[in-house]
Amino acid sequence: MNEVAQVLPGRGREGDGTGEPQAMSPAASPLRQPLRGRPLPVNGEDLAPLDVVADFPAIPPGWAYLDTAATAQKPQPVIDAITRAYDTTYATVHRGVYARSADMTLAYEAARRRVADFVGAGSADEIVFVRGATEAINLVAQSWAATHLKVGDRILLSMLEHHSNIVPWQLVAERLGVAIDVAPLTADGRIDLDAAEAMLTERHKLVALAHVSNVLGSVLDAHRAADMAHRVGAKLLLDGCQAVPRLPVDVAALDCDFYVFSGHKLYGPTGIGCLWARPDLLDAMPPWQGGGAMIDRVSFERTTYAPAPARFEAGTPHIVGALGLAAAIDYVEGIGLDRIHAHETTLVAQAREALGRINSVRLFGPADSAGIVSFAIEGVHPHDVGTILDEAKVAIRAGHHCAQPLMAALGVDATARASFGVYNGPADIEALVAGIERVTRIFG
Ligand code: PMP
Repeated sequence: MNEVAQVLPGRGREGDGTGEPQAMSPAASPLRQPLRGRPLPVNGEDLAPLDVVADFPAIPPGWAYLDTAATAQKPQPVIDAITRAYDTTYATVHRGVYARSADMTLAYEAARRRVADFVGAGSADEIVFVRGATEAINLVAQSWAATHLKVGDRILLSMLEHHSNIVPWQLVAERLGVAIDVAPLTADGRIDLDAAEAMLTERHKLVALAHVSNVLGSVLDAHRAADMAHRVGAKLLLDGCQAVPRLPVDVAALDCDFYVFSGHKLYGPTGIGCLWARPDLLDAMPPWQGGGAMIDRVSFERTTYAPAPARFEAGTPHIVGALGLAAAIDYVEGIGLDRIHAHETTLVAQAREALGRINSVRLFGPADSAGIVSFAIEGVHPHDVGTILDEAKVAIRAGHHCAQPLMAALGVDATARASFGVYNGPADIEALVAGIERVTRIFG
């Protein structure tokens, strides 16, 4: 095996039927063994609690890291893939004529196939590597929307969107004379699809919604959203930032048109993320940034462009980031997204149950939220909650979570948010609840 083949991410662990994670040799790379179609766990036994915190060197014993919705900690296989790439196999991609660069190109493109497989894309060419979800949405706004929308058209968003699924549309809408509508939420904090359906008209060209809310954890009925959008001839973009780390995602089954996510919330590195788009849409999208790697031929008279995805990847990409992302996908698929979802659902239920018993705690979002619990304590600013919890070695997020319109809709400036990942367990919930009881005693 050549040296770059060794950095091709091996799936760090895999259920072998005993429930024990198994090491996997690089030779058994999942790149040669697509996981799609792999039987998923079906009973409670297979969904036994995860016990993988030892894979995460940056989580010391006794520290409850409950901010995975902001960014996930990194498992050792991801750290190893990144380190190995810089240590032993590093070179540029796509341009070098020497073997090392050709090998790195193979590894980089294998990572793209890994992502395509992970989200159910028809081909690796449907995956554009970007910096993260924010850049992916800006790409769709500046390239697709800027050329396919015109004055009088409308975009439908929802009240719970992250700023990165609001502001890029505002920038382009202002320029084009396009209007933005905002779907309200149900009382329990889901996007109100009945209301959204009633708002949609033939003028709507795009519906852009969070697959999972980063504040409330509400899971969108994405298939219904796709039906509704398509019925009026609109495209559906799903912001999958909070979905891909905790739910199996298949863009074909969801029937969406664009899907975006960030690697760092999926246990991968920062600075790498993905846009998936239907190939006919990608083919009809002009470049949005110019530079190396995105061209076919350049002259001062006329420049022609490479086909997708290269057309959208100007400049030297985050080569090692892509390898790290592929390793992260190996890692989560090795555990199983269904197991992760079941694990986080249990943690959410435990947390909501325990916090719900404290009188001064107000819980936001639906009971079946995915991996995220937002709350407020009467008379205590969420920042104070966060600071006191930090003293108790519990790391939560407090603030507006880049969702100021949602905060306004909830009638608060900020919330406290505990969000879970594969490394969390009941002890973290106990530490959270004990910390909040302490807050209520201090402020009580
Ligand atoms: N959308 C959602 C739902 C998010 O949670 C986040 C990150 N908090 C983003 C978009 C933006 O992701 P990034 O900052 O990685 O581009």
